[in-house]
Amino acid sequence: MPRERILKGIAVSQGIAQGKVFIYETKHIEVFQTPILSVYLKDETERLDRAIKKTEHELRNIQKRLNYEIGENFAQFLDAQVMMLSDKTIIQKVKARIVDNRLNAEYVYHEVIKEYAEKLGATKDTYLKERVADIWDVGSRVLRNLLGLTHGSVVEVPAGSIIVAHDISPSEAALINPKSVLGIATEAGGRTSHTAITARALEIPAVLGIKGLIGKIGNSEQVILDGDRGIMIKNPSAGRIHFYEIAKKKVLELKKTLSPFCELPAKTKDGRHIDISANIEFFSEYTHAKKYGAEGIGLFRTEFLYLTRHGSPTEEEQYHVYNALAKKMKPSPVIIRTYDLGGDKVFSDYQEANPYLGWRAIRVCLDDLDFFKMQLRAILRASVNKNVKIMFPMISNYEEIKRISLIFEKTKSELRAKKIDFDEEIQFGIMVETPSAALLSPHLAHQVDFFSIGSNDLTQYTIAVDRGNEKISQLFDHFHPAVLQLIKQIIDAGHQAHIWVGLCGELAADPLAIPLLIGMGIDELSMNPGSIPRAKMVVRAITIPECEEIAKGALRFRTPLEIKRYLHRSIHKKFHGIDEVIK
Ligand code: PEP
Ligand code: MG
Repeated sequence: MPRERILKGIAVSQGIAQGKVFIYETKHIEVFQTPILSVYLKDETERLDRAIKKTEHELRNIQKRLNYEIGENFAQFLDAQVMMLSDKTIIQKVKARIVDNRLNAEYVYHEVIKEYAEKLGATKDTYLKERVADIWDVGSRVLRNLLGLTHGSVVEVPAGSIIVAHDISPSEAALINPKSVLGIATEAGGRTSHTAITARALEIPAVLGIKGLIGKIGNSEQVILDGDRGIMIKNPSAGRIHFYEIAKKKVLELKKTLSPFCELPAKTKDGRHIDISANIEFFSEYTHAKKYGAEGIGLFRTEFLYLTRHGSPTEEEQYHVYNALAKKMKPSPVIIRTYDLGGDKVFSDYQEANPYLGWRAIRVCLDDLDFFKMQLRAILRASVNKNVKIMFPMISNYEEIKRISLIFEKTKSELRAKKIDFDEEIQFGIMVETPSAALLSPHLAHQVDFFSIGSNDLTQYTIAVDRGNEKISQLFDHFHPAVLQLIKQIIDAGHQAHIWVGLCGELAADPLAIPLLIGMGIDELSMNPGSIPRAKMVVRAITIPECEEIAKGALRFRTPLEIKRYLHRSIHKKFHGIDEVIK
């Protein structure tokens, strides 16, 4: 039996897939130089025009399909590709060289595209560098059309496949059929690449960034892809296969049990309504939020707009996305969080020794007011829909809120002066995710309309444990009693100032934590869309007085383990029918 091997990568889209490897290689297109007789030069340039037209038609068809299946915002990169395709300077250059050098269109076109790609590849600008992939993506389509080649496409992938590739071009990623593709694994890419976005939008498990993947795996090999742990298992042992088969079965059974809860309201047995909202990173995910029964968007992580474009979107581009999201979710609320760049959400080539303690989120925005105000204007303009709230990340002191308020008010008056409409009643909230903000929450609460607790960062900063460091991941525990005490203080401070308090870190999706948080008085829980039905099931099985009793008891313990054991015991004793969803 060949030895089992585990290949590690980045988990970008959840789920388990078991299937046959389909190695997807974009075939190298060979282009030869052929002299053309003067009488045929006109035909040659016309052949180029036809190929460009055909390519545009193909790109528009992909865009139509994507607009329909995933959402307009996602398909916008194809507009950029069509613009590259129709670039007059490139086309004229190719035509002039065909005529001057009397050479065939494919040879000259390839030559010119190569020159452009090399020029872009050599710039220091990361955004422009990233466009090289798009140039080759478009260029290869034109060349295939000139040569009459069919596209080696992901559309042809046989059913039950796990696509293995070095990388998948944006327009090809868009053609992946979730009915035949069970999983995706690539050497290139990360959480914000187009492949990752597509995989999440289509709910296909995906692991990207597996180094040297192609050399380690053969076509038709049976593999397991674990999109939760970010691994691909080659030659899985009988024991491993058994483990994953049971895991998959459990997931399916659980999905069946939970699916009726998508439609049901999140009301406790004794009638208290808890807002269950969705965290999203991309506009297109609003469909998941709706599908799983979210009552609003509790956190829109706008920094992904920046990261997928490798630079700042314009005010218009931002407005387009925020406005479309607000419209799609109406009348449910949409909380738009201003850029939380920095930390693990690395941007540009900027590097620092302690990114989590450094130039991150609101600190970046307050250092570049033009950049900050551009986002504020876009959010304010989208607020005419009357369901938008604004939220600021990584607040660590009182002065920051004062400064943000001033800038926000100034931005509003500038819009008023230009007679641009916005919601005068727009709610202004902050994330409480640093221990300093938590301890200052009684003061901060009087300055804002709501708090949303960021338990991921609050845990990281309270225990001083890097949330992304595997070596110390056993220390990262949001049930740490110090974290829970801070959460209780924040909720109490908010309520004393008569504002609502939500929680949008991973803790909100943990069914063991839900009775505890509700017992502490939380008003809203925002989580990844897939976790919503389970959260609703838990909410519908509990009562407020019993949760309050649980919360009181939990704060007496000294360790995360003691707390978790206590929660398991109490939930088992007090509530029926939810043991199976609490791990
Ligand atoms: C958090 O810190 O808990 C949070 C929700 O924000 P992010 O994970 O984007 O830092
Ligand atoms: Mg955070």
